[in-house]
Amino acid sequence: MSDHPFLDTLDGQLDWQRELYRDLHRHPELSLQEDRTAQRIEAELAGLGLAVQRVGGTGVVGVLENGTGPTVLARADTDALPVTEDTGLEYSSTVPGVMHACGHDMHVAALLGAVKLLADHREAWSGTYVALFQPAEENAAGAQAMIDDGLVDRVPRPDVALAQHVMPFAAGTIGTAAGPVLSAGDSLRITVHGRGAHGSMPHNAVDPVVLAASIVLRLQTIVSRETQPGQFAVVTVGASNAGTKSNIIPDRAELLLNLRTYDTALRERIMAAIERIVRGECAAAGSPREPEFDYYDQFPLTANDEDANATVTRALAAHFGAEAVFPTTPYTASEDFSRIPDAFGVPYAYWFVGTVPAERYRAAVDSGTVSSEIPANHSPFFAPAIDPSLEIATRAQAVAALAYLAPSSPAAEEAR
Ligand code: ZN
Ligand code: ZN
Repeated sequence: MSDHPFLDTLDGQLDWQRELYRDLHRHPELSLQEDRTAQRIEAELAGLGLAVQRVGGTGVVGVLENGTGPTVLARADTDALPVTEDTGLEYSSTVPGVMHACGHDMHVAALLGAVKLLADHREAWSGTYVALFQPAEENAAGAQAMIDDGLVDRVPRPDVALAQHVMPFAAGTIGTAAGPVLSAGDSLRITVHGRGAHGSMPHNAVDPVVLAASIVLRLQTIVSRETQPGQFAVVTVGASNAGTKSNIIPDRAELLLNLRTYDTALRERIMAAIERIVRGECAAAGSPREPEFDYYDQFPLTANDEDANATVTRALAAHFGAEAVFPTTPYTASEDFSRIPDAFGVPYAYWFVGTVPAERYRAAVDSGTVSSEIPANHSPFFAPAIDPSLEIATRAQAVAALAYLAPSSPAAEEAR
C-alpha cells in the first residue's frame, strides 16, 4: 500500500470513526428527518476546517479547497429505514421502529474519515474536495431536494462524482463495473374509467374490472414480446383494485405497477408501451374517459462512466491489490445518487464495498447458504462488521478521490 503512504495515519483516527459510526447507528433517522445526523456531520466538518452549508433541508455539503487542480465530489447518503432492529448489537438503534438497515451510517463515517485524511494531509494532494451528505435516499427524494435548493450554483462544479454502497459480501473486497450497476425504478398508478351499473344489468355498464383484467394480461407482452430477449426489464403489476360488492359494477379500476430497467431508452419504450396498451384497451372497452397515469417513487438509472470507473478501479486495485477488486454484476435495486452528477452534467463512479467477515462469507458460499445465513440490506439483522469494513470504505473513498487529486496520479495530470 505504498501508493499514498500518508493513508496509514488512518490507524490514528479509526477510534474516532468507530465512535461516530456507533453513534449514528444508535440514532437512526427516517428520510427527510435527518436533523441530528446533519448536526453531527456539520460539527465534524467544521471541526476539520471545512466551509459547511445546509442544502436541501437536512443535506450537508463541506468544501475543502486546496489549491489548483480538479474538483472531486464524494457523496454519502444519511437516512435510515422504518425497520425494527434485531441484531442484538451493543450499539443497536435506540429509536423504536427505526434502524440504519442499509448501512448509510457506514457511508457517513467513511466519508468523514476520508475528509479528515485529506484535511490533515494537504501536502499530499491539490484541488477541491466536495463532501456531500445526502438525505432521503430511501424514498428517492433527497438528491432532488438538494438540487431544488440550488446545489449546482452553491458548490464548486466537480470534474467527477464518487459514491459507494456497503453490501453483504466479503469484507476486504470491492465490486466495480462500467455501465449500469443499479436499475432505474419507477412506480406507476394507472386509473381507468368505466361506467358503473347494477351487477344484474351489465348491458348498462362499461365494466372496468374486465378492462383492468385485459390490461394486466396484455402488459405481460411488453417484456415477453416487445423487449429483445436478454435485455433486462421488469414490469410488475403489484396491485389491482376495483369495486366493493359482488352486485355492483364499479366505475373505475386502479393498477399499481413497478418497472425496473438498466437502459434509459428501453425504460422510455416500456413506459410508452404501457400507455399505448392501456389507451388501446380503454378504447376497445368503450371507456368514457381517458385513463390517468401517475408516476411516483422514481429512481434514476445508475450507470457508471467508463473512464471514471476505469480510473477508480485502477486506483483501488493499486491500493488494495488486484485480487481485492472484482467486476460486479448490476444489482436490481435502485438509488437516486446519479441525479447529482446528472444535474452538474459530469461523469460518476459508484462501487460496492463488502461488510461480511471474509471467513464467514466464504463458509456461506461453500455451503450454499449466502441468501439464508447472510442478512442483506434492509433486513432487521443487517449488521456490517465495523472492522475491517469501516477502514476499507474510508480508504476506498480517499483512494478514489486521490486518483484525481494526487499530483502524481495520471488522472490528475490529464485534468491539469
Ligand atoms: Zn436501502
Ligand atoms: Zn442504501
